[in-house]
Amino acid sequence: MRPARALIDLQALRHNYRIAREVTGAKALAVIKADAYGHGAVRCAQALEAEADGFAVACIEEALELRAAGIRAPVLLLEGFFEADELSLIIEHDFWCVVHSLWQLEAIEKAALSKPITVWLKLDSGMHRVGLHPADYQAAYQRLLASGKVAKIVLMSHFARADELHCQTCADQVAVFEAARKGLSAEISLRNSPAVLGWPQIPSDWVRPGIMLYGATPFEEANAVASRLQPVMTLESKVISVRELPAGEPIGYGAKFMTSKPMRVGVVAMGYADGYPRQAPSGTPVLVAGQRSQLLGRVSMDMLCVDLTDVPQAGLGSPVELWGKNILASDVAMAAGTIPYQIFCNLHRVPRLYSGPDE
Ligand SMILES: *Cc1c(COP(=O)(O)O)cnc(C)c1O
Repeated sequence: MRPARALIDLQALRHNYRIAREVTGAKALAVIKADAYGHGAVRCAQALEAEADGFAVACIEEALELRAAGIRAPVLLLEGFFEADELSLIIEHDFWCVVHSLWQLEAIEKAALSKPITVWLKLDSGMHRVGLHPADYQAAYQRLLASGKVAKIVLMSHFARADELHCQTCADQVAVFEAARKGLSAEISLRNSPAVLGWPQIPSDWVRPGIMLYGATPFEEANAVASRLQPVMTLESKVISVRELPAGEPIGYGAKFMTSKPMRVGVVAMGYADGYPRQAPSGTPVLVAGQRSQLLGRVSMDMLCVDLTDVPQAGLGSPVELWGKNILASDVAMAAGTIPYQIFCNLHRVPRLYSGPDE
């Protein structure tokens, strides 16, 4: 059997969820959209359900998958509905629904709903992706109330630059939010992972941690709270071939790496078809037989090469950690010019093996 696999540590997931609660004192929706950032939404939801205040996903398809698996906790649709006919399913399954645009508000006003829904009313406080314009926010709130179709409204917004710890934008967005919600007595929700970890002064009744649940830092710089997170996914495989090369020999497609001295090279069963980033350059860290080493040459679809020259204990069959508890996914992501969010979401093909207290 091919040795490539992703180990998912559900105890670490719980540990990270508890940190989000502990450092904010707020209720926390565990963000498990995109199949829990590649970790498996159903398994992650099951591991958290006993203690989570609820979950957040991108769309009704993801929410229905949770209900089909027996998850009864609240599930928020972060983009609300895409078509008004989803409203009947939203009611049937008790989903909570973001309203980010006036067309969604009008659809709720027009719909014949068998019972009232919970709406998270989203403000565009400066990111300019989705959310109502500040000038429309109070009126939208009043229209929802007047519609008689809403059981509860939570006021929310989203940060564009919370991962930049010395940036003024978060404070500016909070000021826009505070002005827009003046006089409204409703719960609020502002903070994603970087704002949970790095912006303790920002108020919240509800926080929306995503990437931190999976144990990866959203920051490029060190952060005390982020350093307490435990990586959840370990992407591992084995060395399937070893060769000794003299100086001056190329390795892999495009001869992007040339040996500058005699080298020992291991081939690992892992490639970009598994989600390992093809952009990762020579020198990207890997762990081979328990020792830090480096990637050599271009990543292929199913294989990649690693340096065994200074890892004498490594050979055929040696275990390799591509990322996990020793090699941080955020470090691999940075080497590859991307973010840990994307490398997790890109996971393909490899079987996921779960461990945790209930396994
Ligand atoms: C994805 C998402 C989150 C979670 O973001 P992280 O940076 O992963 O914590 C929170 N809120 C909204 C609206 C999102 O779309």
